[in-house]
Parts: sequence; C-alpha cells; structure tokens
Amino acid sequence: MQWETVIGLEVHVQLATRSKIFSGASTAFGAEPNTQACAVDLGLPGVLPVLNEAAVAMAVKFGLAIHAEIPEVSVFDRKNYFYPDLPKGYQTSQMYQPIVGAGEVEITLEDGSTKTIRVHHAHLEEDAGKSLHEDFHGMTGVDLNRAGTPLLEIVSEPDMRSAKEAAAYLKAIHSIVTYLGISDGNMAEGSMRCDVNVSVRPMGQETLGTRAEIKNVNSFRFVERAIAYEVERQIELLEEGGKVVQETRLFDPERDETRSMRTKEEANDYRYFPCPDLLPVVLDKAYIDHLRDNLPELPADKRTRFENELGLSAYDASVLSATREMADYFEEVKDVCGDAKQAANWVQGELSGALNRENLSIDNSPVSARQLGELVARVIDDTINGKAAKQVFQALWNGQGASADAIIEAQGLKQVTDTGAIEAMIDQVISDSPAQVAQYRDAEPDKRGKMIGYFVGQVMKASRGTANPQQVNQLLKEKLDALC
Ligand code: ADP
Ligand code: MG
Repeated sequence: MQWETVIGLEVHVQLATRSKIFSGASTAFGAEPNTQACAVDLGLPGVLPVLNEAAVAMAVKFGLAIHAEIPEVSVFDRKNYFYPDLPKGYQTSQMYQPIVGAGEVEITLEDGSTKTIRVHHAHLEEDAGKSLHEDFHGMTGVDLNRAGTPLLEIVSEPDMRSAKEAAAYLKAIHSIVTYLGISDGNMAEGSMRCDVNVSVRPMGQETLGTRAEIKNVNSFRFVERAIAYEVERQIELLEEGGKVVQETRLFDPERDETRSMRTKEEANDYRYFPCPDLLPVVLDKAYIDHLRDNLPELPADKRTRFENELGLSAYDASVLSATREMADYFEEVKDVCGDAKQAANWVQGELSGALNRENLSIDNSPVSARQLGELVARVIDDTINGKAAKQVFQALWNGQGASADAIIEAQGLKQVTDTGAIEAMIDQVISDSPAQVAQYRDAEPDKRGKMIGYFVGQVMKASRGTANPQQVNQLLKEKLDALC
C-alpha cells in the first residue's frame, strides 16, 4: 500500500516589540528570573491590560506580506487553563476573530521548484512563563519574565506532503519575519517554535487521516526528524491493523522519537470567551494602507529581481536572497564593484567559504561588503589577477590592511602587464631551465601544450604572482616555439 503524508504547521513567532503585548514590562532575553514581570503580567487583581500597538502593526505587516485578508475587526479571547507558569489562569489569545485572515506562502524546494502553502489565519496571543525543572532539587522553579511576550501564531492548512516541504515552509516563514524585522527569528532562544500536525492516508484517498500533534519543535532539523519518525510510526501502526489516535506528542531529540503526552480524551476544555478587559481591535483602511506602503522588499520579490534585473541564475538568486543580511551584503558588493555576476561569485565563493570554515554568520564577517566590493573592482579593472585577488582577500580577512588598494600597494601585487618586463622574466626562466627546454623541443608538437605549464609556473613565481597569466602564456609559447 502507498501512503501519503499530510502535514500542517502552527508556527509561534515571538514579535520583536520592546515591551509586552499588554504591559510596559521589558521583553529583553536573558534577564534575572522574575525581574521583568509586572502586575499586569502576573494578573494581580485590579489591573487592566493595554494592547501594544507595535504588536498589532507587526501582525498586520505579516498578513500583508502573505497577501492575507486583514479583517476590520479582531477580538481577544481568554483561553482558560491551570498551570503554574500561567499566573492569570488564562492565556489571552484570539480564537474566533483573528487579526490576520487567509493568505499564502510560497516555498522553494531543493530542486528549485516552488509550491504554494495556504495559511488558514494568524492570531496574536501572549506567551506564558517558564517552568525550570533542572535547577532545583525536588522542586520546580517558575520564571515569569516571558509571561506576556507577544506571539504571532501562524496556522497553515494541511498542505505539506513531506518533511522537506515542512522544513521549507518553516524557512520561508523565518525569512519573511526576519525581512520584515518583526522577529529576530532566533530559534535557539525560542523566538520561533512550531507545533507539527502529522497524519498519513492511503494514496488517492480524499479524507484526511487522524493526526498527531508534535508540540514545540524548535529547529528546522528537528522538524524533519520528528516528521520522519512520526510518519513511520503511523504507517507501521496502520499496517498492523491498528488505529492512530488523535493526541499530543513530544519530540525527544536525544532518542530521535516522539512520545505521547496526552490524548484527546484528556484534552483541556479551554472555555474560550471574549476578554472583557480588552476592546475589539478595529483597523481602518488608512492604517492598513500606510503599513502596506512601507513594507520592505520581501524575499520572493528580491529573488525575482535578482534573476530578472541582475541576470543571476535561479540558484544564485535564491541563495543570495535567503536572508536579509546576505541580500544586503551582496547588493552592497555589487553596487561598489558594479558587476552583479562577479559580486555573486565572490560572495558565494571566497567569502562564504571563509565564513563557513570559521563558523561565522555574514553580519559578523571580518571583511565588510565595501571592502569586498573594492577588491572585486580591482579584479574587474585588471589591476590584479585572480591569484593576487585571493591573497588580498586573505589579507583583508586577517585585518592586514584597511582596503584592497592599501594591500595591493603594500604587498606589491599590482598586475604586471608590461610586455618588456614579462619578456625579461621569461628569458631568465628559459636560460635557467636548459633541460626542460630540451624536453620541450624533443616533444611531439601536440604534447607541448601540456609542458608549457612548468614554464608558466616559473614565470609566475618570478613575478611573485603578479604577471598577467594570459600574457605570460602567449609570450612563452611564442618564445619556446621559436627555439624549436
Ligand atoms: P485545532 O483547532 O484542534 O488545533 P485545527 O483544525 O486548527 O485544529 O488544525 C491545527 C493544525 O493542524 C493546522 O495547521 C491544520 O492544517 C493541521 N491539521 C488539521 N488536520 C490535519 C490532519 N488530518 N493531518 C495533518 N494536519 C492536520
Ligand atoms: Mg492547535
């Protein structure tokens, strides 16, 4: 039997506001426990929440970026449950009238093909605090700093058909929210986490299979691994004549498996109702238009522009637009050197290679975009050859000079194109290598092409890498052939 995998994702994105969604307490990461939760976050009697306008604007920007409907009215609801890290006894969320309606996200797969994933809606809510089980013996600590941090929950339709598609979707969301600047997207710090809904069904069947929901997966890799395990578990279960039960599961990265947390029967009844402390959010057209007019260029548009206007290949365009930092860096190199193709080659070649080797991200590159652009310009105008350019790059990387020009000057790397100077070096090499010259002379004419490499190497060495390689080749061939 052939099985089809069906996946839907609920992605929680922490919004990059400075204060919380309903209070003025700071959202900064890493503070001493319980120093950033105020009376509102703690739900003390007599306090009232005030909605943070920045969180609303960020949610709407996301909605506009995925071409979603933005309803005129949205409403906050209370989701009631009891847990130590939720001091109010309810989470303020949006159940029935979310701030962002249906939209779509385009994903790019490894083979370069694209697919559209529908977004059902996105809603605003507050985060809960954190229970700390490791730090105290026989006790649980509660840190409420995170309570009230604004989250945007983005709920997809069950449109993904493989672990790879799910990971690509998550990457697309990551790229959109970081381009928009509405989240730092830092998955290690929990700024983006997702619940992964997985089911399988016989190939060709219309109705969806029963799903399991894997909670709180916090890396691209874990999403793929959790799905791979879960799909195998469900197929095995069904093929043995069993049934998948609708339940919540946890992914354990150490053991690479998912485990049951609670089944539907044990699920909470959240008793949702509209929050009486918060007014409905009413957005007028002028407000939405203003946000739309000020959206930055988004990843998909940038990719298309890199391809169509700059003439990059589809592959180059997708790599260079993958993150805003990468795209900005590339564009500055291109503007400084004036050649998109060369800029693309250098950013993806020499620069990315060096960054990978030292495990650095592009915003921590020791070579700035301006410095690289100036170096590439010197290759384009033939001031230096390719070999010297690599030397200059290394020197910039090591901080041995402030600019390509300064290094070229200090290290004497300027390309020698003066024919007389090159001929003098060639004559010297020829007179120093009688044995190789004799070999060359005795060789069949069609074997000589290969043997010339030795002489080119010697001349390049004599010039300390600065001779123009095409000229060296050309002149050497003439002089050697004259000896035959
Ligand atoms: P709930 O309200 O119980 O959380 P939803 O219907 O809102 O359930 O769906 C939550 C997520 O689960 C959505 O992303 C949706 O696409 C996905 N989903 C729903 N049914 C299935 C299924 N049978 N298989 C895979 N994903 C599903
Ligand atoms: Mg859900």
